Amino acid sequence: MRAMQIGSVWGIPVRIHWSFLLALPFLAVLFGEYFLGAAEMAGLSRQDLAGRPWMWGLGLTLALFLSVLVHELAHAIYARRRGVRVVDITLLMIGGVSRIGEADRPRTEAIMALAGPLVSLLLGSTALALFLVASAAPIELRLGLLLAAQLNLLLGLFNLLPAFPMDGGRILRAALTGKLGSHRATWIAGTVGRVFAVLFVVAGLLGGGFFLVLIGLFVYLGADAEVRQMQMRDLLGDVRVRDLMTGAPPSIAARTSIRRAAERMEFERQPALTVVDDGRVVGVLTARDVKAVPDQKRGAIEAVEIAHATPSMAPEDEVWKALRTMGESDVPVLPVVDHGELVGAIDQAAILRGIELRSLHEPRRPSAH
Ligand SMILES: [Zn+2]
Repeated sequence: MRAMQIGSVWGIPVRIHWSFLLALPFLAVLFGEYFLGAAEMAGLSRQDLAGRPWMWGLGLTLALFLSVLVHELAHAIYARRRGVRVVDITLLMIGGVSRIGEADRPRTEAIMALAGPLVSLLLGSTALALFLVASAAPIELRLGLLLAAQLNLLLGLFNLLPAFPMDGGRILRAALTGKLGSHRATWIAGTVGRVFAVLFVVAGLLGGGFFLVLIGLFVYLGADAEVRQMQMRDLLGDVRVRDLMTGAPPSIAARTSIRRAAERMEFERQPALTVVDDGRVVGVLTARDVKAVPDQKRGAIEAVEIAHATPSMAPEDEVWKALRTMGESDVPVLPVVDHGELVGAIDQAAILRGIELRSLHEPRRPSAH
């Protein structure tokens, strides 16, 4: 995903996807017209309006994205409090996405999913209360509050739809997991999610708008990916990292220059290196990271500055967890650490080999539950 980091909140990186910038002027005009419509309904003409409609539209658009950010932060902060790994938050044209690890208990997963919509509903109700209280404020400001309330309430309610992997769908899956096990629960939630996705696309094409079509596609792909991940997890069963790990990966000191790291990668034919600081693994440096640094700067930048701070795996961890972590952290290889010592690495190629070999002696995939 092409996204640039704009800052971080409580240590959680916040990124903006290019599609967000694309949508900004478009939404500003759209919301501007919407604002004007609401103003005219309140008895205000275009001439009476303080400022131009697109300015109010831009304000509303920024308020919407701020609301989306707060919604995503609610998920992320609850996740972090429960010890679930949070990678980052990305704002896209159609909303926000948090990359968060999986909670080990369905209950935690459900509350984590509920936290976002709950905060949105709370924000919406607060804006609505302010609108009602501030009767003496300028009409434009009151309209702004009313529309911001509407956006947040809509955001909260829409996300509660059981369209997995949207929040409501995650709550549905967590609720089903207790009775049916995670395999069936994911399959059912994924199917409901795909049905909703198709409905979104149809509703969007029938006049609901371009964004609804996009959201539908996004939900469909998301549900599909989650179901496929579950199948992979079944296939991997209880295979452990130690079964598929390879020897200790070449490691480099944290303060090694990128130029030197590139030479090592080339010389040893390694697409990734483990970055070690004082005997402790601090991250993984990939060929892609190195490629992103212009040649003339490679001498001045140290490996630790651009390495991915990935969590390391333990030999007894399940392989599917390693696979999931790789996806979340966007690295092809993870270091394996045993009692503080680097003992090996696990990479995607080794996992794929493992899946292939496993399918040799288990032609029928066993059901997880
Ligand atoms: Zn959410």
